[in-house]
Amino acid sequence: MSKNPGTARAILRTALILACAFASGVVVSAEEASEVSVQAIAERTGARVEYDPFLGIGSLQRGRTTISFAVGSDIVVRDFREEEDVTPPVRRNGQVFFRGSDAERIQAALLPQIRDSERPVIGAIFIDPGHGGRDPGAIGRHSIDGEMLVLQEKDIVLDVSLQLRDLLQQSMPDIPVHMSRETDIYIPLDDRTRMANEVELGENQYIIYVSIHANASLNSRARGFEVWFLPPEQRRVLINPEDLDEDRRSIHAILNSMREEEVSVHSAMLGNELLGAMDQIIGEQSPNRGLKQENWAVVRNALMPSVLVELGFVTNRDEAMMLAQPSYLRNLSLGLYTGIRNFIEVFENGLTSGT
Ligand SMILES: [Zn+2]
Repeated sequence: MSKNPGTARAILRTALILACAFASGVVVSAEEASEVSVQAIAERTGARVEYDPFLGIGSLQRGRTTISFAVGSDIVVRDFREEEDVTPPVRRNGQVFFRGSDAERIQAALLPQIRDSERPVIGAIFIDPGHGGRDPGAIGRHSIDGEMLVLQEKDIVLDVSLQLRDLLQQSMPDIPVHMSRETDIYIPLDDRTRMANEVELGENQYIIYVSIHANASLNSRARGFEVWFLPPEQRRVLINPEDLDEDRRSIHAILNSMREEEVSVHSAMLGNELLGAMDQIIGEQSPNRGLKQENWAVVRNALMPSVLVELGFVTNRDEAMMLAQPSYLRNLSLGLYTGIRNFIEVFENGLTSGT
């Protein structure tokens, strides 16, 4: 009995492939024999396969990881952004095959990494659709082909936020998504941040706050999307001195500024990931106005990495026409979703200041 059943199985499998090939009179090269079908990778890892036989494009998805591939292409894409070189996969008898060593790397990427219990993780996401109820937010009125188009910020941001929530829950079911509102109701600003600050988190778990708004300007030509975060010099009380042991209370100010720095860095990082992802998805239709700093109440009072996203200007005629289309709102949600996902990946992979 072999001490390594995996190797034994592999040898047996190769022998079987060779035997079958031999029996059917097909000459199989050593390379072909070591190939692994996408189906087999899926079975070994429990991944879900999507494959379009006409385009020869497909993906393997397991948990938070997605590997996209194309027949004949020498790269696979991990989580829609990271490229990895492979020997181009080939199609044979209606199946797609990877070279054995590539298949192994793909399997390793799909299998869950053992999570270090010390490592900080995102334990909750708070989405805050701006305005609502008697507060419509910005309003855009445009006469288009003799018809009046009226857009209210509160409706746009709720639509995008609900889609964003669903996308996040589908792909990361273990991270709870909280919302300040899920319907057209009025909620005072203080209540929104209090809700987020009161979310219960486990050990080493962190929460992020994303407030979603649409913009207005007296300049009807102003258009584009942007993200705001709290300037680092705006200090908040992130650590309550009462919560500290007596001997650490004297260094409260230092601990608080370290935490402030960390929250600031992560807010900017989250903002940049959101802008980058939105830029990729809607950048051709709407300009990226970049990451900006402002002392908004929602980002000031949320004691966590927090950003305020402006989706676009309801006062710009062209942008208003786009914001009136469900497909554009869908793309905005996809951009925000991808940005949050990318942020979580970077955050959880240790690129934190670690205080
Ligand atoms: Zn607003």
